[in-house]
Amino acid sequence: MAGSSYGDVHESARKLVGKVALITGGASGIGECTARLFVKHGAQVVVADIQDEAGARLCAELGSASYVRCDVTSEDDVAAAVDHAVARFGKLDVMFNNAGIGGAACHSILESTKADFDRVLAVNLTGPFLGTKHAARVMVAAGRGGCIIGTASLASAVAGAASHAYTCAKRALVGLTENAAAELGRHGIRVNCVSPAAAATPLATGYVGLEGEAFEAAMEAVANLKGVRLRVEDIAAAVLFLASDDARYVSGHNLLIDGGFSVVNPSFGIFKD
Ligand code: NAD
Repeated sequence: MAGSSYGDVHESARKLVGKVALITGGASGIGECTARLFVKHGAQVVVADIQDEAGARLCAELGSASYVRCDVTSEDDVAAAVDHAVARFGKLDVMFNNAGIGGAACHSILESTKADFDRVLAVNLTGPFLGTKHAARVMVAAGRGGCIIGTASLASAVAGAASHAYTCAKRALVGLTENAAAELGRHGIRVNCVSPAAAATPLATGYVGLEGEAFEAAMEAVANLKGVRLRVEDIAAAVLFLASDDARYVSGHNLLIDGGFSVVNPSFGIFKD
């Protein structure tokens, strides 16, 4: 993401020095921004995506990063991406299961197709399942603990915010997060997810059908928190927190990044103007 608002991070303030991270969907949007932030914080990063050109370009620019083509719906690809991280950088400390698709911008269940439902679940849920499985495979064997993070969504907490397919996938991802946290805690592996509201990425702008300023203004109009617009940098900062020792006792958590939207009913309240 050109023009990221992060400056250089002073050596003493770096939170991921010596860590190796794998980011699926790392060639664009939230994943790209997180890759940039992780490298600034001292991590070595594997970017796994299906956008080869963008992913390779990003890694060449970042330096301490390596691109691997990985379709997260393929177990062979996910296993190979995890093995690539270990072969290239010696280990895997942080797995960020972030790749996702919006699916068809079709809201009614009457018009939703099984093909779209299956595809959205394959990328947004089976992908993180495979990522969690193969990250755990190498983390448990290494015996050094680790950290697995998924990108869920505001749709994991609020109904009516996205399609049925997307909502099902993101809610189930919270279930996967909690269940994996229950199993992997004994190995010192923390498992969490983040649930952002809408930030302007190709996925979100394509789904909503608005770009740039128009997209952000539309999101701000319905937001609870006014005067602040959610940016990918805000989401990357939350992922960095969960990946770092700042969150060393946080596991099984779904971190909402929604300015309080999911806990407020705007149509029924005592704080209306
Ligand atoms: P994006 O389109 O910028 O990035 C998604 C990335 O995932 C792309 O690089 C794409 O190539 C990759 N990808 C798609 N299918 C893949 C596959 N089968 N295998 C590997 N990579 C694949 O969108 P984004 O908004 O940055 O999305 C990242 C995650 O954030 C997604 O899981 C999305 O559901 C979630 N999310 C986004 C928002 C938002 O408003 N942007 C809000 C909540 C959750």
